Amino acid sequence: MPDLNSAPELVNDIVDHMIGAFTFDLGRYLIAAGALSLLLWFFGKWSDARRIQSRRAGIADYKREFLSSMRTVLVFGLTTITTVLLEAAGWISVMTTEIVWPLFAIQLAAMIVAHDAYFYWMHRWLHNKTMFRFSHLHHHKSRTPTPWAAYSFSSFEAMAEAAFVPIYLFAFSIAFGGMYPFAIFLFLAHMIIRNVMGHAGIELFPAGWTRGPLGWITTTTHHDLHHSQGNSNFGLYFTWWDRMMGTEHPEYEQRFNAIAKPIRMNVRAASNISIAAFASLALATTVQWI
Ligand SMILES: [Zn+2]
Ligand SMILES: [Zn+2]
Repeated sequence: MPDLNSAPELVNDIVDHMIGAFTFDLGRYLIAAGALSLLLWFFGKWSDARRIQSRRAGIADYKREFLSSMRTVLVFGLTTITTVLLEAAGWISVMTTEIVWPLFAIQLAAMIVAHDAYFYWMHRWLHNKTMFRFSHLHHHKSRTPTPWAAYSFSSFEAMAEAAFVPIYLFAFSIAFGGMYPFAIFLFLAHMIIRNVMGHAGIELFPAGWTRGPLGWITTTTHHDLHHSQGNSNFGLYFTWWDRMMGTEHPEYEQRFNAIAKPIRMNVRAASNISIAAFASLALATTVQWI
C-alpha cells in the first residue's frame, strides 16, 4: 500500500532538486562566462593582440546569446532533475565510498573522451541540411562568438547536448556500477570552462600549441573557425575525430600560428594573468561544489 505521508516529502524533494539543478546550471554558466569576459576585459591589450576575427560581436549578439543561454539553463536543469530522479529510482548509481584517485582519474578521463565522441557525431548530424535549419542554425547566428555563446542553443539542441549525461551515467552504472559524484562534477566544470574558452573570440592558447605534445587539445581558433566558416572543425575538446574523418579546417594550424604569436610580457604581467586565471578557475570550482 502506498505511503500517503511520503507524497509531500517527495514533492519537497523534487522542488529542492529543481532549485539545486537550476542554480547549478545557471551558476556555472554565469561564473565561467563572466570570469572569462572579465579577464579578457582586464587584459584588454593582450586580448586585442590575439583577437581572432576583425568583426566584433554587437549588442544584439550578446543579447541573443545571453537570452537563449537562459533557455538552455532551463533545459539543462530539467535534465539534471531527470538524472537525480533516475539515481533515486536506482537506474543510475554513484560511488559513495572513499575516493581511489587513480580510479577517479580514469572515470573522469573516460567521461571526457566519451563526451568528445558524442559531441562530434551529434554535431555532424546537426549540420545535416534539415537539422541545421530546424535547430543548429540558432547557435551559428553567432558568426563572431563571445563567451556568452557557450549555451546559445535552440531548445532541441539544448536537449540533445544535455542528454549525454544521463545516457552516459546510465550506461556506466550498468557496466561498472557507478561513478564518483566529484568526478561527475569535475566533468561538468571542465565542460563549461572548455566551452566558454572555445567561444572566447580571443586565442587563449600559447604560441606553438598545435605543434606541441598537447596539440590535440582544441584551441579557441579551432572552434572560432567553425563559427566563421561552418563546414569544418566539428570537435569539442580534441582534434582526433576531425583528423580521422578529414573534417579539420585545412588552414587550422596556419590560422592559429598567425594569431597566437609569442608576445613579450614582463614577469609581473605574466604572474598577474596566471593568478587571475587560477583564481577564476578555483572560484568557479569551489563555489559550485559548495
Ligand atoms: Zn556547428
Ligand atoms: Zn559554438
